[in-house]
Amino acid sequence: MSENHHHGLSVHEVVLLLETDPHRGIAEEEVLRRRAQFGPNELPGVRGHGVLRRIFSQLNSPLVYVLLAAGAVTTAFGKAVDATVIFAVVLVNTVVGYIQESRAESALDALRTMVTTPATVVREGRRQTVPSEDLVPGDLVLLEAGDRVPADARLVGHAELRVDESTLTGESEPVAKDETVLPVPTPVADRRNMVYSGTLVTAGTGAAVAVATGAETEIGQIHRLVGAVRGVTTPLTQKLARFSAFLTVAILVLAALTFAVGVARGQHPVDMFTAAVALAVGAIPEGLQAAVTVTLAIGVSRMARRRAVVRRLPVVETLGSTTVICSDKTGTFTENQMTVRHVWTPAGTYLVAGAGHAPEGAVTDAGGRAVVLAAHDDGGPLRLALAAAAVCGDATLSRHDGGWHLSGDPTEAAMVVAAAKAGLTREAWEAERPRTGSVPFSSERQYMATAHRDPLTGGGTVFAKGSVEAILRLCSGQLAADGSVEPLDPDAVHEVAAERAAEGLRVLATAVRWQDGAGVDEASLPGSMVLTGLFAMQDPPREAAASAVRACHEAGIAVKMITGDHAATATAIARHVGLADGSVLTGPQLAVLAGIDFDDAVEDARVFARVSPEQKLRLIESMQSRGHIVAMTGDGVNDAPALRQADIGIAMGRGGTEVAKEAADMVLTDDDFSTIEAAVEEGRGVFDNLTKFIVWTLPTNMGEGLVILVAIIAGTTLPILPTQILWINMTTAVLLGLMLAFEPKEPGIMARPPRAPDRPLLTGPLLRRTALVSALLLGATWAAFHWSLGQGASEAEARTLAVNLFVAVEAVYLFGCRSLRGPGQPGGLFGNRWLILGVGIQALAQLVLTYVPAMNHVFETAPLSGAEWLVVLAAAAAAGLLVAADKRLGSTAF
Ligand code: ADP
Ligand code: MG
Repeated sequence: MSENHHHGLSVHEVVLLLETDPHRGIAEEEVLRRRAQFGPNELPGVRGHGVLRRIFSQLNSPLVYVLLAAGAVTTAFGKAVDATVIFAVVLVNTVVGYIQESRAESALDALRTMVTTPATVVREGRRQTVPSEDLVPGDLVLLEAGDRVPADARLVGHAELRVDESTLTGESEPVAKDETVLPVPTPVADRRNMVYSGTLVTAGTGAAVAVATGAETEIGQIHRLVGAVRGVTTPLTQKLARFSAFLTVAILVLAALTFAVGVARGQHPVDMFTAAVALAVGAIPEGLQAAVTVTLAIGVSRMARRRAVVRRLPVVETLGSTTVICSDKTGTFTENQMTVRHVWTPAGTYLVAGAGHAPEGAVTDAGGRAVVLAAHDDGGPLRLALAAAAVCGDATLSRHDGGWHLSGDPTEAAMVVAAAKAGLTREAWEAERPRTGSVPFSSERQYMATAHRDPLTGGGTVFAKGSVEAILRLCSGQLAADGSVEPLDPDAVHEVAAERAAEGLRVLATAVRWQDGAGVDEASLPGSMVLTGLFAMQDPPREAAASAVRACHEAGIAVKMITGDHAATATAIARHVGLADGSVLTGPQLAVLAGIDFDDAVEDARVFARVSPEQKLRLIESMQSRGHIVAMTGDGVNDAPALRQADIGIAMGRGGTEVAKEAADMVLTDDDFSTIEAAVEEGRGVFDNLTKFIVWTLPTNMGEGLVILVAIIAGTTLPILPTQILWINMTTAVLLGLMLAFEPKEPGIMARPPRAPDRPLLTGPLLRRTALVSALLLGATWAAFHWSLGQGASEAEARTLAVNLFVAVEAVYLFGCRSLRGPGQPGGLFGNRWLILGVGIQALAQLVLTYVPAMNHVFETAPLSGAEWLVVLAAAAAAGLLVAADKRLGSTAF
């Protein structure tokens, strides 16, 4: 079924070909059968880079070139042992790099399965939401604005359907779609009667029959051709790459100079060459990039565990610098579990009992009598208000598997449930009066309307529901108790609405219009309708929101609520979550502000109500112009530009549209505000751990280089041999330094201000620390080496002492790098098990190096005496004290 000619067939032919039904879809058993035949509807996993490719990419670095050249030279001069060590270094380097890269990529891969794309299908006549992987050819797919098209499909019906196909065709303007049959040679970009997997519905609705799934789709075929383009570069990794490139060149020049000086002093050129190579390898912080990759990958999985799924890696860094979080109200600060509590009509007020989405609980009037609307009742406004609640929307309530299931927008769902409590359902209504037209809800319009044909009168009924302001604009009268139209009393309506909103309830109004024709268009609505009622619904604030807001404030991050809802409702919820002080601005108020006034007002306000999506964009730009790093949530199609503009665009995993997810940097799988706070915390932790690694690696690498450099320049015996430097360099980078990536977050991580995003890598305190620790390493190894020689030890023994001392100081310093602020050991001395494990293995390795005869032979080492071990311990202790003193003196502001 993959020959792509379905655009050339009529709807009827497509339906026959795919053995489906354009209204009822296919049967469940048929779905199972086809799934077995066609497989799941997903793109074939791209196996990252091939194993060989990945190995070669590890070898492709200046450092490896230097090492390979050095290995070749030493081999040529018959220095088999040195050559072996050098090649071993290359091997270890490759293996470690390979493992790290694979780990990072699999961490990112795992994220992809965390955010699933839902698809709406009709099977056996029942509308249902299924994971898009479950789709099969022949499935009848329903599309609406915000959806991602789940398979290649031929349209069988549509209403103002527009699709953004830029992912497939590069065309940035959304394309209008219809069902007309096209000539077979029509290119994909012009096949207006087809929708393609992976493209995004920006407006309207449609129904389509899936003709190709999985790898057979157009996007699947492209995907197969080019494979996935992925990578783990971020602004920070680029910055680090530039920094290491600079450092590498500088060190290579220094090594060449050292070589020249040594040879000029009459040393053997081959010895000098090995020494220069050791100097370079020791001094170049080659572990830096691997550490960044690993730390980011660990951060990403930590965030995923806290339900924040990162879609673009750089966001992990940016999170740590966030200064403002702008969040939706509905669903983020609140549960998005709406329940209608009150219904007001011009004829009276009613209470609605019951919780949850089961339609159980009575609608009672002022006298406490339960209201049951019989089918013959043509009564007053309540019936028509509830009818609008039941039919003017797309949420559905159904009963299966012994429970009640709601699908669709929670606001609409609440109204559907309220109507059902009084005995009014969409199925019953539409069985007699089918829907004949609609104006879909949008955040700009703030209302929705549907038209229904009435077979009794031959005329039509239009229902509308939406925000009180929007509906009042459509109305010129209100429905009285006896069913007659009386003059509108907007003051009374506003008063009721304001009272409910002040309690934190969301208020929607409903209206009706009788007409001759069957359709409805937006332009004809204003002033033509009759108000029927107000629905006040409760949406409880999320429990964790208040403490998360408090945590953000402590962390120097401003929190702002941006909502399309009424100012009073927003303020009441804001008060609940601790955003009460600070002013409230509404969309209309923002609209008349400009320039500095706008920016000032935005800076001060905590709550933005009745805001349209375009205004969201202006808000972000204003805050960014004041130097803020802005995280912003969004859920609708129209939020996409704002999500892209924000430094961190955050989409709702549950309530959000696919369009919003596509535009976002991060997706919250639980939609909860406190998850954003958690992600910021993790982001800060990631950055801390990277800083810790840098603070550890720069001084120790510098020390390794200096030991050789100084000895050659001074023309004295090397206290540590080149092969021994290579040993130190390889083992400590992996066993010690890298373990800092697993550090837990430091306490108080959310008690300090956000990191300035333009902060340089090399700060004064870092340079000072580098100087101190590298001098310490150099001095201590020199002193120990010469002391040992003075005691009558052999050069081999003295060097072994120097090597062990060097490593011991590095290990002690590692603990000093565990906290960037203050002297503490986060989580106690054993707070990072990986680090303890690494130190343990390193210690064992040192014993092997010192005592195993084969190692003594290769590395020219010799067993140490008890006194020498005491020197190692003493030096390590002294180094620990010195670093602690330095931290106390304040060199902690890296
Ligand atoms: P929010 O920021 O709370 O998600 P929205 O933009 O979704 O705000 O909604 C703005 C206003 O539009 C709401 O206060 C409500 O009055 C109205 N509204 C929301 N959803 C619907 C809907 N499905 N149909 C009609 N009106 C709606
Ligand atoms: Mg909403």
